[in-house]
Amino acid sequence: MFISTGSAIIDGQRVTCPTEGGHGHVDLTSAFTRSCNVYYAYLSEELGNANMLNTARQFAYNTAFKFPDFNMLESRFEQPGNDGDLAWAGIGQYTDLVTPMHNMLISAGVANGGVVMQPNTLLDVRYGEDSIYNYAPTQYKSIMDGGTAATLAGFMRDTVESGTATSADIGAAVMNGKTLRKSLKMGIERPNKSVGIDTLGLNGASFRRRRFIRRRIGTGCQKKNYRQH
Ligand SMILES: [Zn+2]
Repeated sequence: MFISTGSAIIDGQRVTCPTEGGHGHVDLTSAFTRSCNVYYAYLSEELGNANMLNTARQFAYNTAFKFPDFNMLESRFEQPGNDGDLAWAGIGQYTDLVTPMHNMLISAGVANGGVVMQPNTLLDVRYGEDSIYNYAPTQYKSIMDGGTAATLAGFMRDTVESGTATSADIGAAVMNGKTLRKSLKMGIERPNKSVGIDTLGLNGASFRRRRFIRRRIGTGCQKKNYRQH
């Protein structure tokens, strides 16, 4: 158990929570569902630079994505030089970069027991009764074991039920999710502009408020021309 007062000084850097006055008593579950920055900051410091970087790599950060249908931009996690930067990196700031598409793959991976599937734009092509072209589902990467994925899915469910993502509780299906606040990185500098992104896992697939995201920041993908292979 940990008490969040809303801010902390870590290695000379001030880390703040998005909620005025902090979150009070939090543990790992409530820090996740309520997005407690200070908790993440101390946790990152405890885990250390090497563990954070290794886990980011496991989640396919710093990885050149080569998918048949997409040119997908690389997401970045840089090794911070001090604990203050590490704290902000653990919160998802510092120089962290992630595309909405990568984020969606990770959330789908959680819903899929820890295995991220290769994303495709096309399921199959039919001519009359004949299927002349189709994709077999292909595993891209295992990012966590099944037990960890189930735990994380539970955290994401709590976030939608009673945390920061209750607007995702649409009732028609069981939705799991996590909110995230990132600065936009676009062709032009807009340093103070940020956007809320909801990533939701749904029955082994992933759902995102696509139009909302696309209109503002794109998906991080560039569609390739269709080709048979
Ligand atoms: Zn907090």
